[in-house]
Amino acid sequence: NGVGAATGITAAPTQLIGYDRQHVMHGFTNLDRDLAPGPIFQSGKGIRLVDVEGNEWLDGCAGQANVSLGYGRDELADVAASTLKSLAFGTHFYHNRSHVWASQLADRLADITPSGIDQFFYGVGGSDAVETAIKIARFANITNGRPDKIHIIGRMNSYHGVSYGGASMTGDHAMWANIGPLLSGFSHISQPEIGSVGAASALEEEILRVGPENVAAFLAEPISTPNGLYCPPDDYWPQIREICDRYDILLIADEVLCGIGRTGKMFAIDRWNVSPDILTISKAITAGYFPLSVVGVTERVRAALSASGEKFVHGVTNGGHPAACAVALATFDIMEREDVVGQAVRGGNYFAQQLGKLADSQPILDKSTARSTGMMVAINLKLDEYGDEFGVRVHEEFVRRRVLVRSYRNNRTIGFLPALTIVNQDIDAIVDRVAESIDATRALLGV
Ligand code: PMP
Repeated sequence: NGVGAATGITAAPTQLIGYDRQHVMHGFTNLDRDLAPGPIFQSGKGIRLVDVEGNEWLDGCAGQANVSLGYGRDELADVAASTLKSLAFGTHFYHNRSHVWASQLADRLADITPSGIDQFFYGVGGSDAVETAIKIARFANITNGRPDKIHIIGRMNSYHGVSYGGASMTGDHAMWANIGPLLSGFSHISQPEIGSVGAASALEEEILRVGPENVAAFLAEPISTPNGLYCPPDDYWPQIREICDRYDILLIADEVLCGIGRTGKMFAIDRWNVSPDILTISKAITAGYFPLSVVGVTERVRAALSASGEKFVHGVTNGGHPAACAVALATFDIMEREDVVGQAVRGGNYFAQQLGKLADSQPILDKSTARSTGMMVAINLKLDEYGDEFGVRVHEEFVRRRVLVRSYRNNRTIGFLPALTIVNQDIDAIVDRVAESIDATRALLGV
């Protein structure tokens, strides 16, 4: 298959498929054993993945939007290996210990994060970063004589992780169902309408409803993925910042997915020259080669956390692992060397253009909605006209044609979040498979 054999695997392909069916519980899935199994991957290069049976797949979503530099980068694998040889593990618990990679990375992060953010708390993934951000916002108030100022406002059609804090923060009824009581002290406002003016006033209304004396923070993705990858109106984020300042409320930007180049800026919030008080980072910070998250805060927030003399009793064992920090440093080296953020803009523009062209011959696609913000690319399906079944079936055809894409808004938006470094030829290959999948669905449904 040309991309190297899997290492450490002793079982045959059919056995591995069997082990998966017998023992592996998949996330975001109905766990009925009889449902059709998906691919089991063993190697990757660029945007191409090879499964255990030797089939090649095109990854149009960079794993979970984290494999931002593509698969098979030896440089990243090598830096992880050499770091592990030097120091297998290092903690940041307690004031008096850390390791050299965490120090170096923090200095680098202070340079690239929005102005004012220069204090960093390490974790392992997006959910724990969101959890950390929520705890910081509450702790800063509770320890400074404001025990009631703990409410956090988020938005509907948002995703912020699976921990109880993250799920409570997430604006999605499916995430709230069947898991018992959520955390209290959360509420959700609407996303801004496309092209609207003054949509940030929804935040002010909610602050006044809850009472500013009770609200600790507003937490949101600068560009929401579940809402369909729409860039918000230009006035939205500057006004959100202004409203947060007016009511002494912390602004938390969840850049777990948008951050580290995805939107054609290092951080999506940079697009509006807005600086949050707290910033969550994960996914692409290691290009997906190692788990890592970072929560960045301003000096003002750090000072509030320590003012009372209380300890911030928080942290996860593997947070800021030496190999993860080393891989993050190497990721930033590659991003600089290859102008990856610039590539994301150029590639995203090309991708949206090609989707627009495809819409000329595929009327199910709404040409006017072909859009990109960096390498956050999407187009809408006209399901109101063609029926919801088209949306379900076309995604089955994507899988049959071995192209991995994302679905948002009940299949009304097809999203593409490939490696930021994807070349035009590979964009064409993805668009071709999308076209074939639409043709097959039209034939199947006779439309
Ligand atoms: N916040 C956002 C904006 C995310 O996109 C995600 C993951 N998709 C998370 C938080 C949670 O991250 P993780 O899956 O690493 O826990």
